[in-house]
Amino acid sequence: MTRHREPTEVGPETGSAPAIEFVDVHQGYGSGENRVHALRGVDLRIERGEYVAIMGPSGSGKSTLMNILGCLDVPERGVYRLAGQDVGARTEDELARIRGRALGFVFQSFNLIPRMTALANVALPMAYAGVGRPEQRERATAALRRVGLEARADHLPAELSGGQQQRVAVARALVMEPTLVLADEPTGNLDSASTEDVLSVFDSLAAEHRTIVVITHEQDVAERAGRVLVVADGLVVDDRPSRGARR
Ligand code: ADP
Ligand code: MG
Repeated sequence: MTRHREPTEVGPETGSAPAIEFVDVHQGYGSGENRVHALRGVDLRIERGEYVAIMGPSGSGKSTLMNILGCLDVPERGVYRLAGQDVGARTEDELARIRGRALGFVFQSFNLIPRMTALANVALPMAYAGVGRPEQRERATAALRRVGLEARADHLPAELSGGQQQRVAVARALVMEPTLVLADEPTGNLDSASTEDVLSVFDSLAAEHRTIVVITHEQDVAERAGRVLVVADGLVVDDRPSRGARR
């Protein structure tokens, strides 16, 4: 099995701990009669190197799950371990460091900074982490090369197609060599050709044994992963190999 460098922010080496472990995770919003029980006891284990898609109807709890996976929220009840480390025990500052260094985020709306070039957007997580300028440039260039956009390094987001912008966002998500890449509807705003471009980048990440979790409404997108989870009414109701994985 390929071993990846573990960011120190996730704590000491924990041997063969899974990338993600949920034990009876509950999450809710509001209180009293406005109370919504959005996750109702989720147990989940995702191994390092797995490529997992999460599907489910609107309101089923996907974003709530993603916010916990992404260390934006901690569970009300239950345990979330990221690379073996209990996230619930972390302070806000520590969670921010984990988000910045151990996680890579890709959003439906790309979330690039309009006034910054592709290269500067990709370099941003390194700027926050205090990486020196020459190294930032080198690593951002390499990340853009991986998504096939080295030649567009000096373009502004508005000068790129939607698919190219999303590939820049993927390069930005990768540049810190994260433990986990999280994508929430990454192809939701893309046409089919651009969707294919982004999915082939995910394919290549999966081939490198990166851990990837993608939320999607699109069956075709989900089947590109190795494993498909279905969330309904705050619970994981199905967990199966994708069609591709069974082939
Ligand atoms: P999905 O992403 O699958 O559409 P969500 O995780 O966004 O589902 O929502 C799960 C449930 O929690 C829904 O009933 C939703 O209305 C509720 N919910 C989500 N966010 C909030 C919030 N900030 N305040 C109150 N209720 C919320
Ligand atoms: Mg959602």
